[in-house]
Amino acid sequence: MRFRQIEVFHAVYISGSITGASRALHVSQPSVSKILQHTEAQLGFALFRRLKGRLVPTEEAHLIAAPFTEYSRDAGAVKAFAFLRKPDQALADRYLDATAQYLEMYRGLLGPYPYSKFALVENFWETGYGMPSFTLLGEQIIRFPFILHSSYPHELLHNWWGNGVFVDFAGGNWCEGLTAYLADHLIAEQRGQGADHRRAILQKVTNYVTTENDKTVSIIDPVSLKIVGSVPTDQEQSHMLAVTRDGKRGYTANVGPGTVSVLDLEAKKLVKIIPIAKMTQRISLSVDDKLAFLEAE
Ligand SMILES: [Zn+2]
Repeated sequence: MRFRQIEVFHAVYISGSITGASRALHVSQPSVSKILQHTEAQLGFALFRRLKGRLVPTEEAHLIAAPFTEYSRDAGAVKAFAFLRKPDQALADRYLDATAQYLEMYRGLLGPYPYSKFALVENFWETGYGMPSFTLLGEQIIRFPFILHSSYPHELLHNWWGNGVFVDFAGGNWCEGLTAYLADHLIAEQRGQGADHRRAILQKVTNYVTTENDKTVSIIDPVSLKIVGSVPTDQEQSHMLAVTRDGKRGYTANVGPGTVSVLDLEAKKLVKIIPIAKMTQRISLSVDDKLAFLEAE
């Protein structure tokens, strides 16, 4: 299997649909279907079956095989495992310790862990995937010391949701948000690095500010706090801006003219001006970004 096939498999796996996978990977639905069909034909068995409109993985889909060295330890009612491609007791111990530590932390926060085992499985590809009761991590990834207290607890936490409780991507990925909050952020906070973590997240975000007087939306770089670009709205009083989830489109409510300017935020261009009413003030978008709601006067 090529890496792309694994990516498609995993995207369908976590979203439960071709639509969800195509949205997550930013590729068309027909190409997701084609890659999946091709993969199943190559393997000679089905990876998913349809159940009440969802694509549910088959038993075979969870089969991972390779010559592994197995390590295990009891962690309360759960058995912690490490499956390594080359024997390495010290590495296995670090993962077994971390498994016990985070199982206990999340049991206290969320209630009982829903499986009887959790396993670290070393993969020959550099993946970082969470599966029900195990995580598939690449051989380089598992040797980075910070993974033990970042990606590893993140994948372990996905066993409470994400591996059995799935997400409807059209409504936003709450699953990833909650996991990032209770793993990545919480662990940083426990180490006194909560503020740094939040700042680093904000620095990945682009800030847009409506600058009515020169009929533009200004783009501000959150690190340097400098204006790094602007998008013309071509209308007076562009008062409020709504941005689609993918960050590609913007819609301004232009008060006096009573219009909406549709903006291509990537190309920094005005696409269209739509007349709405005599005046308009506020704007918001539906969760699927398909509808815009405006207050009109
Ligand atoms: Zn995740």
